[in-house]
Amino acid sequence: MSDIIINKRQLFAGTAAVAGIAAGGLAGARPALAKADMVDAQVPGLHRMNVGEIQVTAVLDGFLDIPTAMFPKADAEGVAMLQKQAFKPVGETVRGSVNTYVVNTGDRLILIDSGGGGLMGPNVGKLHANLEAAGIDPSAIDTILVTHLHIDHVGGLYTPEGSALFPDAEMVVSEADVGFWSNNEIMAKAPDNAKGFFTIAQDALKAYEGRIKTISGEADVAPGISAMPLPGHTPGHTGFVISSGDDSLFVWGDIVHSAALQFARPDWSIAFDIDQDAGAATRKKVFDMTATDRLTIAGMHLPYPGIGHVAQASEGYAFVPEEWQYKL
Ligand SMILES: [Zn+2]
Repeated sequence: MSDIIINKRQLFAGTAAVAGIAAGGLAGARPALAKADMVDAQVPGLHRMNVGEIQVTAVLDGFLDIPTAMFPKADAEGVAMLQKQAFKPVGETVRGSVNTYVVNTGDRLILIDSGGGGLMGPNVGKLHANLEAAGIDPSAIDTILVTHLHIDHVGGLYTPEGSALFPDAEMVVSEADVGFWSNNEIMAKAPDNAKGFFTIAQDALKAYEGRIKTISGEADVAPGISAMPLPGHTPGHTGFVISSGDDSLFVWGDIVHSAALQFARPDWSIAFDIDQDAGAATRKKVFDMTATDRLTIAGMHLPYPGIGHVAQASEGYAFVPEEWQYKL
């Protein structure tokens, strides 16, 4: 081993030599670079991390460009300032990732949410291709934990014909969400452009009929995983806490839709938050708890892989993304 260890002095000498070559104009002696085509797609959207003895894979489904007008309390000036601060283009949309997570406990294989499937245009619906790239067979998934029954979380669970894409999985979802989205009286009173949310939730439930487990409160949903009610975004919106040994990961669903805007302004609920005030109150409570307890969190619309920490900032909070996991 020792003969290949380069000490600092050798390294600097080497650097100087390289600099000399460059300055000496040896360009003519440079080997020709192989030409390579530009590529118009990323590598598969997969990122693994260990939580104690449990392995969590963030599986990308795609992204959404969310109109800033969807944040009713946000003012144009404040939005522009935060977009600039986040080094994002100042404009009328903010980009949100659509993330899902596969949890391997060793003897259970669990999917948390499923992205939008074929229901939301070409930028989403990559879950199944990315699962394949990860070597995960959908029929090996035994449990699907659903944070809530919105299209971008359950659209990837079933085919356009209505059959389950995870043939051997049990769906675990909050009783409150099932009650709300299955209620045709509430649906009848909803604005026309919101009725689709109800039919999609009902289609997803129908595809898994007979193998749906409803939960309420802080239920244990699998070994090492417990549910945490986070009402506001939907009545039964639920987070899942994955724990093993001293390690934990809090998958918080849709606490945040735009990292650029909502960490600084937790009061800016998105129009999809069914109860705007409850959504903001839950967001603030979760930010306070996760920042104080220094938890590792994962979010469905945080920049992929959507894993990181919440830090207190001079104004509101800030997202501190977790690094690439160099070693598993
Ligand atoms: Zn969502």
